[in-house]
Order: sequence, then structure tokens, then C-alpha cells
Amino acid sequence: MIAIPDLSAIEAMDAADPLRAFRARFVLPEGVTYLDGNSLGAAAPAVFAELRKAAEEEWAEGLIRSWNTAGWYDLPIRLGDRIGRLIGAAPGQTVVTDTTSINIYKTLRAAIAMRPGRNVVVAEVSSFPTDLYMAEGAISSIPSAKLRLEGIDAASIEDLIDTDVAVVLVNHVNYKSGEMRDMAALTKKIQDAGALVIWDLCHSAGALPVSLDEANADFAVGCTYKYLNGGPGSPAFVYAAARHHDAMNQPLSGWFGHARPFAFEHSYAPGQGIRRFLCGTQSALALRALDGALTIWDEVDMHALRAKSIRLTELFIQLVEAKCSRYGVTLKGPRDPARRGSQVSFVHDNSYEIMQALIERGVIGDFRAPATIRFGFTPLYVGFKDVLRAAEVLEDVLRTEAWREPRFALRTAVT
Ligand SMILES: *Cc1c(COP(=O)(O)O)cnc(C)c1O
Repeated sequence: MIAIPDLSAIEAMDAADPLRAFRARFVLPEGVTYLDGNSLGAAAPAVFAELRKAAEEEWAEGLIRSWNTAGWYDLPIRLGDRIGRLIGAAPGQTVVTDTTSINIYKTLRAAIAMRPGRNVVVAEVSSFPTDLYMAEGAISSIPSAKLRLEGIDAASIEDLIDTDVAVVLVNHVNYKSGEMRDMAALTKKIQDAGALVIWDLCHSAGALPVSLDEANADFAVGCTYKYLNGGPGSPAFVYAAARHHDAMNQPLSGWFGHARPFAFEHSYAPGQGIRRFLCGTQSALALRALDGALTIWDEVDMHALRAKSIRLTELFIQLVEAKCSRYGVTLKGPRDPARRGSQVSFVHDNSYEIMQALIERGVIGDFRAPATIRFGFTPLYVGFKDVLRAAEVLEDVLRTEAWREPRFALRTAVT
């Protein structure tokens, strides 16, 4: 067995961490060990500065002129290209707009229409539920369309792919278990059957290097308020491979996706390239907040990020298993770091109460029904000592059975 690192070994890991300086670029409340940046990324003064400028100068002083003079109009495309670097997408294929849920709808309908004669959409029952809800909605107006689910219709997604399948909507990293798929291999399998793939990158954009172009992906969607730190409800992104741009049409044919929005023509003509995934007027303030968050990301080496992420998750698993296994906590999700995203989940019969007790002690992770406690490791602002503290507090909550206090069983609306 590998020796459990002690405090001085862990402090040495922090001292040698090449990403250490990024931590100072974020606001982290006193006494909080924040392991939920995979749900809502931490705030950064760089974001506040851009927001203040956007409100006080661009909006207040510039007024309507700022759509041109402050570049608001092109922000969805410019920010898309900056996210593109993080997800392995060459410029011109990524746009920031709307929400992930809406973008799932748009890409699903676009992809289904590109495969006439095929009527099956494949998704995963283990998916984050909105993906499934949007798939239901997307096929509801296509009478022959059907949903096939991994976990219900077959155990493995590969077994659901045949020549009836138009599109496969699949998560790169599972939100609950942290399990990562082999993007290139699954994309090839799907395309060999003549279908298209939509990758959901909510738990991989900003968590690890993604190679959409290299994997020959067709479409992708993802969040910016999780690992990318764009702020609560910040707009999502859509990627479409350049080879599909002329053939793809999305159903939310609003004027921002029009070829000539300010010609005010009476019928729709889709814009060039990725721009046609836009729908209506975008929130300039929210886009400018993301603009600020991406100034930090522009400096990040994604391979250094991945190396640290693996070391953080490996250390956490090692410490929790050494300290907490005897209390009924078991690892859920991959043990092999190559198949793990930047999060670690454990299951326990009293996960909800345990997480509430952890949060009260300043260790913020989250609970995912029915029995998962989930910890996100955002390498820009989580250090190795945070990992130690989280494992120690978890051990304390379990050993003392502090989680049994009745107030920890009260359920809140957002978990
Ligand atoms: C977070 C998340 C979403 C969120 O969708 P919204 O429309 O932003 O609420 C969707 N899918 C997955 C896989 C997620 O993790």
C-alpha cells in the first residue's frame, strides 16, 4: 500500500504546484473549502471589473451605441472562439448563447433534420435529466421519432447504435459518477453507422482538455457557469463542425441567427456558419461577465490543468478511503484516473445528511439523489491542503455521527 501523505508532504505539493498562482485570482470566502465549482464556479475580481465597466460605461454612457462600439454584437462569436481553444475547436465553430438546455434542443433538431429517413435518438438514462427532458421535447413534434436509452433499452450505448439512429446525445463526463467516455472512439462508432453525435461537455469544458476537431465530433454543447466561472446562469455554448455549417438548420429561427438581421426582412434566411445557432438578443451583461472569466482561462495550459486535476482527485480518493471506508462510504465511479473527470463521488446511505453537515463546517460539495456525495476539483483554485481538509472534516462528521442531527435531514430546494 502507498503511504498516506502527511501534512508536510501535502504542503510540499501545494508549493510545487505550477497553477498555484491562479488561486489569488478568485474570491474564496474565509473558512470555506469549495468543492462545488463543477456546479457553480467561483467568482473572480476580473469578472467584477468587466461587469462594472459593462454596466457603468458601456450601458450607462454608451447606451444603444455599445452594441457596435463596445462590441456587444459580436461577443457570442468572439467568446465562442476563446472557449474553442479549451475544447479543441478551431475558430468559427463555437458560439456562446442561450442555455445548455436550449442548445440541446437546437442541436438535436438540427441533427435529426440532417438524417432524413432515420427516426431514433439515442441518449443515456444516467444523463443529467435536462438532456433527456429536452430530447423528449425535441422529438415530440416528429410523429415517427423515438428515444432509445442506454440503461433501459441496452446496458451499453454501443449496442443501441444501428442504421435507424439519426443522432446520439451523449455526455463526455457523467455528472454524477464522473466517468469519462472515449470521445474519438464513440464518435467513430456512431458515424460508422451513419449517425451524428452531440457531445455534452458540461462537466469537461474547463475541467480537462477536450479535442472536438481531432475526434471529428459533429456537434457539442456545454455550460460556462461551472468550470468556466462565468457566473450564475451565464450563457452556454454550441459547437458545430465546419463541414456541417451549410446543411444545418436549427428550429429557433430568431433574428440574431438571420443572415441580415438589420435588413428587417419578413422571412427567415439562416446566417453564415455557427452564427445561425443564435436566436434572439443575447444578455450583453452576462456575456461581458464571461468575457472577464475567460481572461483567466486564456492563460491556462490545459495539460497542466489535467495533470493537477488527476493529482487532486487521486489524493482525495486515497485519503477518504483511508479515513472513511470503515463508516460505509464507497467510491462511485472510475478508479482509473484516465477515465475520470475532475470530480469524485462517493455513496453512503445517509449522503444527504452527511453533505449538509459538511457544508455547515465549510466544506462545500453537493448531494445528487438518491445517494451520492459529489466533490468537484477545480484546479485553478483548489489546492492539495483543501483536499486534506475535506477528507478530515468528512472523517469527523462520520466518526462523531454529527450528521444525525435532525436539522441536517431538512431538504432544501436546490441540493
Ligand atoms: C449543468 C448541466 C446542464 C444544465 O443545463 P442548463 O440549461 O444550464 O440548466 C445540462 N446538462 C448537463 C449534463 C449538465 O451537467
